[in-house]
Amino acid sequence: GKRIGVVTSGGDSPGMNSVVRAVVRQSIASGCTAFAVYEGYQGLVDGGDMIREMAWEDVRGWTSEGGTLIGTARCMAFMERSGRLTAANNLVEKGIDALIICGGDGSLTGADRFRAEWPSLMDELISSGKRTEDELKPFRHLNIVGLVGSIDNDLSGTDATIGCYSSLQRICQSIDFIDATAFSHQRAFVIEVMGRHCGWLALMAGVSCGADFIMIPENPPSENWEEEMCSIIKKHRQMGKRKTIVIVAEGAHDRKLNKISAVMVKDLLSQKVGLDTRVTTLGHVQRGGPPCAYDRMLATLQGVEAVKAVLDATPETESPVICIVENKIVRKPLLDAIAKTQEVAAHIQNMDFEAAMRGRDAEFEE
Ligand code: ATP
Repeated sequence: GKRIGVVTSGGDSPGMNSVVRAVVRQSIASGCTAFAVYEGYQGLVDGGDMIREMAWEDVRGWTSEGGTLIGTARCMAFMERSGRLTAANNLVEKGIDALIICGGDGSLTGADRFRAEWPSLMDELISSGKRTEDELKPFRHLNIVGLVGSIDNDLSGTDATIGCYSSLQRICQSIDFIDATAFSHQRAFVIEVMGRHCGWLALMAGVSCGADFIMIPENPPSENWEEEMCSIIKKHRQMGKRKTIVIVAEGAHDRKLNKISAVMVKDLLSQKVGLDTRVTTLGHVQRGGPPCAYDRMLATLQGVEAVKAVLDATPETESPVICIVENKIVRKPLLDAIAKTQEVAAHIQNMDFEAAMRGRDAEFEE
C-alpha cells in the first residue's frame, strides 16, 4: 500500500481535524499507511518526529474538535527551494510519496510547486550524494491532492470551503448577542468580520442577520456611499427600527481602493446620523470552536475522496483539488482553481469590480 502524509497549512479552519481523521482512516481501510505532518510545511522541513505514523485510534473523536490538532504554520523555509529539498529528503526518509494538503490557496500553490519540482529535487539528492539512484527509484513522482480549508470561502470552483459554514454560524450567533443589547439601548453596531479578498462571510452574515448595510471588497459601495448609507439607516430608523447593524469585511474599501474601516463607519453613524454607535471586531472567535455539522460532513467526504484520488493517480495525473459542486464531491485541476481565485483578486486590485463579481458568480453558473 501507499504511504500517505496529511498536512494542515495556512490559517486554521474548523473541520481540519475531520479531514485528518478521514484521511488517516480511509488510508488504513485501503491498506495504506497514514502519516500526519505536524505544524504545516514546517513539519516537512523539520522531519523526524514531526512526521508521525497515525493509527486508527489516534484520531478518535477528532471530528468534533475545532482548530487543527496537528498544528499549522506559515513556513518561510518552504518558500525556498533549499527548504523544499530538505522536505523532500525527509519524505523519502519516511517512505512517503503522496501528500494530502488542507489549506488555503497559498498552501495549495506551494504543494503543486513541490510536486512540479519533485523530479529535480530527487536528481539533486542524488547528485549531492545524499541518496543513491536505487534508493530513489520508488520516489520518482510525488502525488499531491488538495483540500480547501478556509473560513473565507474564497476558492473558485467549490461551493463551500471546509470551515466557512462554522464561521458563518459563529458570526450569526455573535450578531444575535449584539442585537439584544443594541435593541435595548437603540444603538448602532459596526461589526468587522474576517475576509481580506472575499466578502462571502460578510455578505451571508448580512443576509442571515438582516443587516442594514454591508461592505465587501468585490462590490464596493457607490462613490457617495457615505450619504447613501446614512440615508438608508435614517430611513430604517424612521420605520421604527431600534437597532442598526452594519457589517464591514476586513478587506472592505471604496471604489478607489481606499480602505473603509469599521471606525470610519462608526464616526459617520454617530456624527451624521446621531446614533450611539459601537464597533465590535469579532476577530478569532470566528475561527475557533467546534465545526458545524456541515463542515464535519464536507471534511469527511472530501478526506475520503482525497485518498481515493491518491490511489487513482498515475504519474501523468495533474494535481486535483477536491471540491463540492451542487452537492456532489468532485475533483478539479488544482492549478485551474487557484488561477481563477487569483483572477478575482486581480480584478479587485484593478478596480474592475464587475469582473470580480462575475468571477465569483461563475462558480454558480458552471
Ligand atoms: P489562508 O487562507 O489562511 O491565507 P493559505 O494557505 O493561503 O491560507 P499562506 O500563508 O498563503 O496561507 O500559505 C501557507 C504556507 O504555504 C506558507 O507559509 C508557505 O510555507 C507555503 N506557501 C505558500 N505559497 C507558496 C509558494 N508559492 N511556494 C511554496 N510554498 C508556499
